Amino acid sequence: MPTYVNPDACNSCAGVHQGPLCVYICPGDLMVLEQDSMKGLNREPDMCSECFACVKMCPEGAIEARGYADFVPLGATVKPKRGDREIFWEVKFRDGRRLTYTYPIRSTTVGSTEPYKGFAAPSESALRGGSLAGEEIWLGVDTLPSPAGPD
Ligand code: SF4
Ligand code: SF4
Repeated sequence: MPTYVNPDACNSCAGVHQGPLCVYICPGDLMVLEQDSMKGLNREPDMCSECFACVKMCPEGAIEARGYADFVPLGATVKPKRGDREIFWEVKFRDGRRLTYTYPIRSTTVGSTEPYKGFAAPSESALRGGSLAGEEIWLGVDTLPSPAGPD
């Protein structure tokens, strides 16, 4: 089910993000901004791995996945809408029927996560270093070995 961008709904992520999110997230480098219209475009639908990353990330809900006619003869499209605690999937059929599915995606309140709970917040230099947070704790050593540089 490759993706299709509704050009009427796409705003190029203009003014909201530093660049088009679908272009940023696509692992196959398939999403581009079409130069004339400046709208998102899947330039190689045949190569789409149907990971749904762009579909879920588009802030305008402009991207939907469309099934190939050979196995989805009624031409259904699939589109998600993200909520704070759930994701709603809507399957829309060519004859107008709609099916919706709701899946929980988190059990805590948005913004309530404490990323450093039980640990000291890392320094700026630690964030830029090559080690993982808490690595010495999990490895049971006092000092981590320095990563070897190239010869
Ligand atoms: S993420 Fe959505 S709004 Fe942004 S460029 Fe892609 S299709 Fe358009
Ligand atoms: S569904 Fe995945 S592979 Fe296909 S265009 Fe979107 S991000 Fe790329």
